[in-house]
Amino acid sequence: MSSPTGFVFKGDAVFSQGDEYEFALDGLHSGGAGVLRCSLELPAPWRAVAPWVEVSDAFPAPPGGEWLGLRSVWSRFGDEAFARAGTAWQYMNWLRSERFCRACGSALTPRAEERGLVCSGGCGRVYYAPIHPAVIVAIEREGKLLLAHNKQMPEGRYSVLAGFVEPGESLERTVRREVMEEVGIEINGLRYFGSQSWPFPCSLMIGFTAHWLRGEVTPDGTELSDARWFAPDEFPDIPPGMSISRRLINNFAAQRTGGTVHEPVA
Ligand SMILES: [Zn+2]
Repeated sequence: MSSPTGFVFKGDAVFSQGDEYEFALDGLHSGGAGVLRCSLELPAPWRAVAPWVEVSDAFPAPPGGEWLGLRSVWSRFGDEAFARAGTAWQYMNWLRSERFCRACGSALTPRAEERGLVCSGGCGRVYYAPIHPAVIVAIEREGKLLLAHNKQMPEGRYSVLAGFVEPGESLERTVRREVMEEVGIEINGLRYFGSQSWPFPCSLMIGFTAHWLRGEVTPDGTELSDARWFAPDEFPDIPPGMSISRRLINNFAAQRTGGTVHEPVA
């Protein structure tokens, strides 16, 4: 029986060769040439998700291949490849970064019965892979969509508003707070749109649509340097690909122009 195929990571990059991005992991084991960790050596629950190995510069990668960032895996190989690579990468990144108990400093070891890490020092704390929820919202006013330039975006790029959920908040409360903090307006008609795992490094984007209620758009000047209402034929440079931000923008445009309504990410 051949071993399952999986991802080969070096740092945050994924090995790819031609149209291939998953490879048989036969013969690769931690301590082997350039292999730091291999998920196939972990207990069964850990092997139930997309397998991976983490390698170093000493790994003898086959010739003709290249190392791709996760975004490039997505643009080149599509949603399913991105989802599998993103899952594998998040577990790999978690295992290499969460190594010691935060309470007592003892080493953590993978649990046999679930994808959790347990303190080996006797305090018994269990840790799980982190997921940071963030909301993203497309706000409409009289046929126009609110798009903002965040200072971290490329020059001239605009997108819908987004922000991280804070302790004690419902998603609805997060949306209202972020919108008020970032542009100073109130909204209503909040509706769930869809969600997307966003492995940079461990976010879950939860998308909404909403309508302007009152207030004039005033960018906060710290995160956002500009925010304005745009009709579909006035859109500036917007996010490429099929991120949930782009799907929200496409969905708005399609509803205004009678075109194809884009489905949220599955
Ligand atoms: Zn401990």
